Amino acid sequence: MTNIDWSKLGFGYSDTNCHIRYTWKDGAWDNGELVKEPFINLHIGAACLHYGQEAFEGMKAFRCKDGKVRIFRPMENANRMFRTAKRACMAPVPPEMFVDAVKRVVRANEEFVPPYGTGGSLYIRPLLIGSGIQIGVAPAKEYTFIVLVMPVGAYYKGGLKPVRAIIYDEFDRAAPLGTGDIKIGGNYAASLYAHEKAKAAGYPVELYLDSKSHTYVEEFATSNFLGIKKDGTYVTPDSTSVLPSVTNLTLKQIAADSGRKVEVRPIPFTELDEFVEIAACGTAVVVTPVYEITRGDKVITLGDSESCGPVVQELYEKVQAIQYGEVPDIHGWCEEI
Ligand SMILES: *Cc1c(COP(=O)(O)O)cnc(C)c1O
Repeated sequence: MTNIDWSKLGFGYSDTNCHIRYTWKDGAWDNGELVKEPFINLHIGAACLHYGQEAFEGMKAFRCKDGKVRIFRPMENANRMFRTAKRACMAPVPPEMFVDAVKRVVRANEEFVPPYGTGGSLYIRPLLIGSGIQIGVAPAKEYTFIVLVMPVGAYYKGGLKPVRAIIYDEFDRAAPLGTGDIKIGGNYAASLYAHEKAKAAGYPVELYLDSKSHTYVEEFATSNFLGIKKDGTYVTPDSTSVLPSVTNLTLKQIAADSGRKVEVRPIPFTELDEFVEIAACGTAVVVTPVYEITRGDKVITLGDSESCGPVVQELYEKVQAIQYGEVPDIHGWCEEI
């Protein structure tokens, strides 16, 4: 048993019983094994270290109201990692193997899933790396697939806290036909500089416009953009360089289920003034309300720093109620381990 103080958990790494690890060699994956030590013995010539063959995912398992542990929409992450692997010329993980790996490692670490009512969850981090030696530029001939897990606390301990966002015209995240739509570590290396600069200036999130024309809204550095119009319509950008977020997919469905209009279309920067609520969305936080957006000397104000808008609040509560098994899972999103 663990003696974790669940109320003090933040979002960060902590050791658990084990991770699960698979190797792809000579055209096939092995059966995977649970490994206790949180280290890998990697060759210095491994492709991931030189040419960035690294893909990852992020998802969560929840201790539900009925005491059971359920994973939220794992097949969506499995399919996304499959697409990422194809685009980065890596051995793809078959989606069934991915979901099985996730279930095996969560089962082996069940006591690390925070109890129902604490607001916590078990964060699941699948990782795919080119582990074969590759000095000439080419895809690796060997791959390692790892799934690690860690208990994380409720992101917002005192309710949703709105933040300020900034747009930097001097930095782009992803090229129009580049790798913005796949989940590789390289996208993060490319955006860390702007992220640190934003943080130091007092902006927890930065918003990117399309790299080609800086005319349309794309997404935040690590989360999708969603906006609510006066009539309650949910609008989110349509772009080839936005990462298809599972949280956004979920919120769009929940919005539609409650009778809202949902629009996926280009959003000009000039339209931001017309939104009554804006939020960033992603697995780690679900939603982060944004109350102010700065671009150069223009400041767009959406609300105040104290209170989350009613629609974003409602969407947040609805998705959490499904994840913790408090309401019927009508879409079959939660998978028991
Ligand atoms: C992972 C990620 C998101 C959020 O995706 P979820 O599936 O909702 O967690 C959004 N944008 C980027 C760039 C990401 O890497």
